[in-house]
Amino acid sequence: MSERGGVRPTNEDACIVQPNLLAVADGMGGYAGGEVAARLALSAVCELEGQVVLGPQVVRQVFEQAHRRIQETSAREPRWSEMGTTLTVVWVENGRAFLGHVGDSRAYLLRDGSLRQLTDDHSVAAELVRNGTLTEQEARRHPHRHVLTRALGGAGTPDVDVAEIVLARDDRLVLCTDGLTTLLEPNELAECVMSARTPEEAAKNLVARASLADAPDNVTVAVGFVGEEDLEQEALPGAESS
Ligand code: MN
Repeated sequence: MSERGGVRPTNEDACIVQPNLLAVADGMGGYAGGEVAARLALSAVCELEGQVVLGPQVVRQVFEQAHRRIQETSAREPRWSEMGTTLTVVWVENGRAFLGHVGDSRAYLLRDGSLRQLTDDHSVAAELVRNGTLTEQEARRHPHRHVLTRALGGAGTPDVDVAEIVLARDDRLVLCTDGLTTLLEPNELAECVMSARTPEEAAKNLVARASLADAPDNVTVAVGFVGEEDLEQEALPGAESS
């Protein structure tokens, strides 16, 4: 689900929620370029729907494809020459989640009541936290907290973070743009997702919390609950566990 924030005239966020696929993108660039970049990135992701045999290599290819599409459109349209986007994607296949990530949108895993952030923010402030220059608290007020160090679009090839996670029963996956994480503390996010009965309810609750806080940015959330069908089938037919 995707909601418009209170201040920006257009929604520069976009998302995909499919049975095996969650993705969010937060675009940037003037003249609606952000919206275009986010949609171009997700169009590359969509082409993967229904395909099998995923691995880190395929995840990288999808990100490169998304990046090329944005570059090509930028080159054709001078008003979109500055556009770019974040992209965070999780594909679920055979008991595993394959994660691809560029930018400052986030993926979280909620397991057994505890929330784990699966992605690093690629922003100036977050890099300063990781190298010990800033504390988390200082980073929240840093003037460059929204300046990205990595994004799709622009010159060069993207440096994509790729990870693979073995899923467990009742895992809950949350992808969101910075519009949400600048407003909600991780414990509030965890509480919202834990108390929901369905992924839709979780996403609705998160967006509702953000709008209570008078969201200044677009807020986009994609939630998936891991079901029996997503887990690897380990037991052999007829095998019994004692
Ligand atoms: Mn944003």
